[in-house]
Amino acid sequence: MLLLRVALPVAIRHCFDYLPAVDAAEAPAGVGARVLVPLGRRQMVGVVVEHVEVEASAAARCGCRPIVRALDHEALLPTPVLALCRWCADYYQHPLGLVIAAALPAPLRRGQAAGYAPPAYYRLSPAGRAARAALPARNVVQRALLDRLAAGPTAEDELGARLRPALATAAAHGWVERAAPAAAPNAAGPLPVLTPEQAAALGAMQMLPAGYSAVLLDGVTGSGKTELYLRLARRAVADGRQVLALAPEIGLTPQLVERFRARFGSRVASYHSGMGEAERLRTWLAARAGDVDVVVGTRSAIFVPLARPGLIVVDEEHDGSYKQEDGLRYSARDLAVLRAHDARARVVLGSATPSLASLYNVAAHRYRHVRLTRRVNDQPVPPVTLMDIRGQPMHAGLSEPLLAVAARHLDAGGQVLFFINRRGFAPVLMCHQCGWSAPCPRCDAHLTLHRRPERLLCHHCGYAQAVPTRCPNCGDAPLRAVGQGTERIEQALRQRFPGERIERFDSDRTRSATTLARLLEAVASGAVRILVGTQILAKGHDFAGLTLAALVDVDAALYGTDFRALEHMAQLVTQVAGRVGRGPLPGEVILQTRVPDHPQLRQLAQAGYVAMTGALLAERRAHGLPPYAHLALLRAEAPTTAAGIAFLRRAAEALESRPGVDLLGPVSSPMERRAGRCRAQLLIRAASRRRLQACLDAGVPGIEKLRAPHSLRWSIDVDPYRLD
Ligand code: ADP
Ligand code: ZN
Ligand code: ZN
Repeated sequence: MLLLRVALPVAIRHCFDYLPAVDAAEAPAGVGARVLVPLGRRQMVGVVVEHVEVEASAAARCGCRPIVRALDHEALLPTPVLALCRWCADYYQHPLGLVIAAALPAPLRRGQAAGYAPPAYYRLSPAGRAARAALPARNVVQRALLDRLAAGPTAEDELGARLRPALATAAAHGWVERAAPAAAPNAAGPLPVLTPEQAAALGAMQMLPAGYSAVLLDGVTGSGKTELYLRLARRAVADGRQVLALAPEIGLTPQLVERFRARFGSRVASYHSGMGEAERLRTWLAARAGDVDVVVGTRSAIFVPLARPGLIVVDEEHDGSYKQEDGLRYSARDLAVLRAHDARARVVLGSATPSLASLYNVAAHRYRHVRLTRRVNDQPVPPVTLMDIRGQPMHAGLSEPLLAVAARHLDAGGQVLFFINRRGFAPVLMCHQCGWSAPCPRCDAHLTLHRRPERLLCHHCGYAQAVPTRCPNCGDAPLRAVGQGTERIEQALRQRFPGERIERFDSDRTRSATTLARLLEAVASGAVRILVGTQILAKGHDFAGLTLAALVDVDAALYGTDFRALEHMAQLVTQVAGRVGRGPLPGEVILQTRVPDHPQLRQLAQAGYVAMTGALLAERRAHGLPPYAHLALLRAEAPTTAAGIAFLRRAAEALESRPGVDLLGPVSSPMERRAGRCRAQLLIRAASRRRLQACLDAGVPGIEKLRAPHSLRWSIDVDPYRLD
C-alpha cells in the first residue's frame, strides 16, 4: 500500500509518513506537491518527498494517519529544486522540511494556492489607434495608456498602478487586443563593440563545451564583466534557456535588472526580500513556468525553480552576503555551482577580487580562469599608497596630510570618499577619570556612541540606552568618545570643509533603498563632493567623478582574529579602489596606517590583490586552513559557558575521532556573551570535504539525541564564513 513521505517544517531530521487522502477516487499527491497533514493536534503544510510502498499490515502497525488534503494537483517543487533541497539537507545537516520551507515563497509555505496565469500582453487595436488620435486632452490617463500600448505590447503588470485601472475601460471600448510579448526594446539595436580583451574572454567562455562549465571571471572593476554576462545571457536565451543572475545585495539588484531589461525587455524579473510577498511569488511561479528569461536576485533566489536553466551568474562572488548566517546556513555561491552542474548549465562567478576559495578551485582545474585586466575605457586602475600617519596631527582619525590631499582633489574638481567600516560616532565612550567604558549589559562588547539620534547602541544585539551625562562608576563628569565612526568623520569633515555638501552612507542613513538611490543621484550630479561611508560604498556603485578614496583605518584588519581578516581587508581596499578614477580625472587611493612596513599591506599596495592572494593561499596551506581544509563549526548557546562547553564535549564524543578529522575545542567563542547568552564552539576540521561529511553524517544524529537542557541551543555551520 502507498504511503506519502512528507517533509514538514519542524526541527526534526526525519520525514513523516501519511496515508493518501481518504477519498480513494483522487490520485495520491505526487512527489513535490504540498499536502496539509495532521501533526499531533496541529495541522501543517508539508511537501511530499517520496512515495513509499509498504505492506498493508506494516502501514497499520505504524499508525499512519491520512493527510487532510492535497494542496497541489501537480508537483509544486520541480525535481531539480527538490534535489537541491535534499542536497542542502544532507550537506548542511539541516532538516529537509526546514530546507524546503526556506526555498518556498512565504505564501506557498502557508498553503496558499499556487495558481498562476501567464501575464497577458496587450496592444492597440485598429479602433484603439483611431481613438488615440481622437481622444480629448482631458482624458489624461486613458491617453497615457493608449500611448504606452502604442509603443509596443505591454503586460498588464508593467502598466503600474496609474495606468492599470484604465485598461478595463479601454478593453470595454474595444481599443486593446491581446498580443504576443514584446521583444526587448533594443534587442535588435547595436551592442557595444567588445574590447579585444572582452572579445577574447567571451570567446574563451563560449568555446567551452555545451553543458556544465564553471568559469571564474576575474576582472578589475570597470573591465566590462557585466557586459559579458549580458552576452552569455543573450546566447542562453537565444537557445531557449533561462538565466539566473545573483547579486550580493538588494541595493545592487535594480541596476542589474535595469541592464538586463535594456537587452531582454520585460521578460526579466527580480527576486529578493525587499519585494512584497505577492510579487516574489509571481516571479517564482513565472520562472517555474518558463515565462521569464532572466531572474535577477539575491542569495535566496538560488532556490527559484527554472523550467529551462542555461546560465547562472554570481556577481561579486567573493561577497560574504552569499552566505546565510542563520537557519539553513548555506552558501548561494556554492549552490550556484552545484545547481549548474546538475542542470548541465554554465555558471560564471564574477569578481574583481575573487575569493581564495574560488582561486583555489581554479588551481585545482575545477573552474576555468578568465581574466580581464584592463578597464573598458582603458583608464588605469588608480595607484594605492600607504600613508604613514605615525606622529601626524590627527583630526578625528583623519591625518593632516590626508586632509591636505583631499583638499587638493576638491580644488581640482574631484569628489572624495572616506571609508571606514564602522557606523556611529565612536566605538567607545570612556571616563577620563577612572577608565570606565560603556559596556553592553548583554554582550562582551562596548556600546557604540551614536549622535544622530543621540544614544548608546550595541551593534551585536541591538541594545540601546541613553547616553549618561556623568560616569556611572566614579560619578565624575567627563565622558569621552574614543575612536571613530562614520558620524564623527562626517562631523570632522564638516568643520574642515564648510560649504561642501557631505553625505554619509551607512546602514543608519541609507536604510531605505530610495534614500540610497537619492543620495547616489546627488553624487552623480556633482552636488555631493564628499562621501563618508561603510562597505555600502565599496560595492558595485559607479562614481564617475570620484578621484580620491581614503581608507581611514585599515590597521584594525591586521589585528583581526578571523583567519579571513586579511583576505576581506584586501578585497575591501580593492573594491573601494575600483570606484575611483572612472571619469576623466585620474584617481588615487590612500590607506592610512601606523604599520607601513606590514609585509602584506605593502604587497597589496605595490602589487595588488592578485599578487597578495598568492601569499595568503600559501599561508592558509601552511596553517591547514580553508580552502586547504574543510571546516564545520558547532555552536552552543546557553545561560552559562560551562553548560555550552559540557554539551559540546559530549558532542565531540558523538563525533568520535576519525583519521583526517580534527576536533578543535570546545572553547568559549571569541565573543563569549552575546544578547545575554553565553556562547561556546567546537571546530571540526577535515582534510577533505568527504571526510568532513562522513564525520558529520555519522556523528550529528548522535548529537541530536543528546539530552540537553531546554535553555541550550546549538547549531551546526558547514563551511562557516565567520568563526565567531
Ligand atoms: P564591471 O562589471 O566589470 O565593473 P561593466 O560591465 O559594468 O564592468 O562595464 C563598465 C562600464 O563600461 C559600463 O558602463 C558598461 O556599460 C561599459 N562597457 C562595458 N563594455 C563596454 C564596451 N565593450 N564598450 C563600451 N562600453 C562598455
Ligand atoms: Zn569614571
Ligand atoms: Zn549587545
